[in-house]
Amino acid sequence: LGGSISRAIQQMSNATIIDEKALNECLNEITRALLQSDVQFKLVRDMQTNIKKIVNLDDLAAGHNKRRIIQQAIFNELCKMLDPGKPSFIPKKGKTSVVMFVGLQGSGKTTTCTKYAYYHQKKGWKPALVCADTFRAGAFDQLKQNATKAKIPFYGSYMESDPVKIAEEGVERFKKENCDLIIVDTSGRHKQEAALFEEMRQVAEATKPDLVIFVMDSSIGQAAFDQAQAFKQSVAVGAVIVTKMDGHAKGGGALSAVAATKSPVIFIGTGEHMDEFEVFDVKPFVSRLLGMGDLSGFMDKIQEVVPMDQQPELLQMLSEGTFTLRIMYEQFQNLLKMGPIGQVIFVFSMLPGFSSELMPKGREKESQAKIKRYMTMMDSMTNEELDSTNPKLMNESRMMRIARGSGRPLRDVMEMLDEYKRLAKVWSKMKGLKIPKKGEMSAL
Ligand code: GDP
Ligand code: MG
Repeated sequence: LGGSISRAIQQMSNATIIDEKALNECLNEITRALLQSDVQFKLVRDMQTNIKKIVNLDDLAAGHNKRRIIQQAIFNELCKMLDPGKPSFIPKKGKTSVVMFVGLQGSGKTTTCTKYAYYHQKKGWKPALVCADTFRAGAFDQLKQNATKAKIPFYGSYMESDPVKIAEEGVERFKKENCDLIIVDTSGRHKQEAALFEEMRQVAEATKPDLVIFVMDSSIGQAAFDQAQAFKQSVAVGAVIVTKMDGHAKGGGALSAVAATKSPVIFIGTGEHMDEFEVFDVKPFVSRLLGMGDLSGFMDKIQEVVPMDQQPELLQMLSEGTFTLRIMYEQFQNLLKMGPIGQVIFVFSMLPGFSSELMPKGREKESQAKIKRYMTMMDSMTNEELDSTNPKLMNESRMMRIARGSGRPLRDVMEMLDEYKRLAKVWSKMKGLKIPKKGEMSAL
């Protein structure tokens, strides 16, 4: 997909005369590519219409950067399609919320329930899992195993066959135990069946969830819209999680799910393990959908922020996948300099999981304070520590020294180093990045 879109845009930039015909050809090419990526036909058509409205042929003819204009228009349009206009219900730590998971069998509900619980538990929440899947043999065992591994309290039964009863009992019990995030896993069916939707309605009625999350397998293709819509018609779906994004699917179905449920995607699943779970971030997702994940788009973005000749080391290090504390420090500096995120693009913001976690929307002030705190601690590090790529170097005595030197508790130093590890993992995905030679970028 990426290849064909890049090619379509490339051809466009080579055409000397940009007329309506050339633009249409380019758009048709992109349409084909998006369809291959499972974006619903109707959505693609709407996008095409919108882009024609936005892209001004006169601007193109006047020799402005054609490729950039079209690429940007498509990018923006897809980002808009992923934004239903209102955020989903956000549970609050310390207050009881009931979150119900729905989706077809095999979509990844049980796995995702645990990931969701674990994600919050790591942040100090008190989650609990309720297994209201009495349809699939072994469903309770699966949840029990997952929950035990993550040390999360769970509720279910081998004997009881009424999912509504179990759901109700489980929620009741965990409310009494003052859990702040009660997660109800439900059963699925292989197909969209009336019996399933009736069951979902009843479980929802009994548990009164604050949020219903629709879990969707990214590889279901064009079926995404119908499936999401069918669930939305039975229960008040308020958010979407797309799973198996580690596979081949580009995840175009996510756009369909958003359109059908009018709810945002909040997380994506990127593997079978508990921690292979990321906060959904629109921009990197769209980059991937457009195949800009092959980094040509990524390079454009970098170029906008850091002129290539000014930061050759940074690009070199990106391509090597090396991420040191010093790089983190410098990127934090950039981030603080550039003001509120969202208005500016900096290197981190194009990498999945960076900006959304580092600086969640609406919590910019808090995040800035956190980043400054991190930087204060890094100021107490030695050059050796800042430039090291050896994770074992930061032993306890070094951490204690940094804590003392910066006047912060040891726990803060550990938190900062955890953050570093997380960012290093994302950074390492950029390994093998091909750095264009000087001059190649200006050909855009
Ligand atoms: P459920 O029937 O909806 O509860 O689905 P499960 O949670 O049982 O998941 C079905 C299968 O998909 C299991 O083998 C999971 O390990 C797998 N799975 C779930 N999420 C992901 C993911 O994000 N990536 C990958 N690779 N596999 C996943
Ligand atoms: Mg299940």
